[in-house]
Amino acid sequence: MDLAFSDAELAFRDEVRAWIADNLPDGWGRPGFREPQTFEEKLEFAKGWERKLAAAGWAGISWPKEYGGRGATLMEQVVFHQEMARARAPMISVNFVGINLAGPTIMAHGSEDQKQRYLPKILTLEELWCQGFSEPNAGSDLAGLQTRAELRGNTFVVNGQKVWTSYAHAADWCLLLCRTDPDAPKHKGLSYLLVDMHSPGIEPRPLKQITGEAEFNEVFFTDVEVPREQLLGGLNQGWTYANTTLANERGPAFLAHQIRFRNRLEDVIAMAKRVERDGVPLSKHPAFRDRLAKAYADLEVMRVIGYRTVTSILRHGRPGVEGSIAKLYWSEMVRRMELLALQMEGEAGILDGDDAIDDGKWQRGFLSSFAQTIAAGTSEIQKNIISERVLGMPRGERWAPKERVS
Ligand SMILES: Cc1cc2nc3c(=O)[nH]c(=O)nc-3n(C[C@H](O)[C@H](O)[C@H](O)COP(=O)(O)OP(=O)(O)OC[C@H]3O[C@@H](n4cnc5c(N)ncnc54)[C@H](O)[C@@H]3O)c2cc1C
Repeated sequence: MDLAFSDAELAFRDEVRAWIADNLPDGWGRPGFREPQTFEEKLEFAKGWERKLAAAGWAGISWPKEYGGRGATLMEQVVFHQEMARARAPMISVNFVGINLAGPTIMAHGSEDQKQRYLPKILTLEELWCQGFSEPNAGSDLAGLQTRAELRGNTFVVNGQKVWTSYAHAADWCLLLCRTDPDAPKHKGLSYLLVDMHSPGIEPRPLKQITGEAEFNEVFFTDVEVPREQLLGGLNQGWTYANTTLANERGPAFLAHQIRFRNRLEDVIAMAKRVERDGVPLSKHPAFRDRLAKAYADLEVMRVIGYRTVTSILRHGRPGVEGSIAKLYWSEMVRRMELLALQMEGEAGILDGDDAIDDGKWQRGFLSSFAQTIAAGTSEIQKNIISERVLGMPRGERWAPKERVS
């Protein structure tokens, strides 16, 4: 494990750092900056910021040059994401599915026509994508999905329902995993369609989350016609391609999470210095001082797990089981840290909006922290993987998925 950056990587870091300093949205991070509030405001803000990144060639940093990307090395990608985190640059991403999931999957399995048609508009944000995988009865056990696509002549006719589809109500295209052979074993009867979200018969219904926001949706498909040329790869081969998508769910951006969480802990510590309990600031209160120190130690452990993950990707081209260890560790750690922040507020923790400390950012942080332990493979699934592959324990009776493993 070599933890030092090379001279070239340091020069690259300076270039990224200078670009971010010159290009952060006006007023971003300064007192009085009004963060976007509604979904529409967030969408517009994110599009503006991500277009700026795209124009400078940062959006496709991980894409090969032949597809319009920057073709950066893994270490350059790590440096880029670390610098973004260090500068506390905006994190809202409406183009995540396009850049990280759709792009790499189409590059790996799409026809030349599909590559020409779809890839350029992902990079420029002209078209947004969503991921139509999960269903009410298929999440961890994804291969059990039931949405049907029947091939009639040269057209697939799709009927069924997806759920938790992030940004579906804003998306132009969908990566749709669906069943094309109901009689085949469940992994073998799936196909992968690229579906125009503006087709007749598609109805996204936003789902309101516990935070009050509505970023994901139920999506209903009723007799939706999809031309055969929008089939990715071969018929009934969708499971293979879905694994390419899932392997990209946790791109190198997560390697900078440690810095974002450290920023967050710095904010928690700043609050601990301001807020008093029993006549002393929380930073000096024995009950909280102890837990703040533990949160700091947790973050240091996460940093080391991050180094191991990078080393594993450099050696083997993929994070392997280190990816599961890292995902389980950081998502549970974030929940502990957000809980600590909320508990530091004491009774004020039940307030919201203008009445709450820091405009309710700690309440929102706590509520949204639950999502991290579910998305891209739940904590239980990560534990199953670790128990089998690291500890060599026997498979459980209901051992289902390799599905959500990167
Ligand atoms: C913020 C967020 C965004 C998302 N965006 C998308 C999206 O854009 N597109 C999309 O397709 N999906 C999306 N998802 C859905 C996500 O992929 C699923 O929620 C996830 O795979 C879990 O599936 P599930 O919700 O059906 O839960 P289930 O799989 O039904 O699990 C329910 C519970 O049972 C446990 N469990 C299940 N199987 C096992 C087992 N074998 N052993 C032990 N415990 C088990 C789980 O850990 C969990 O606690 C998103 C989810 C979140 C939280």
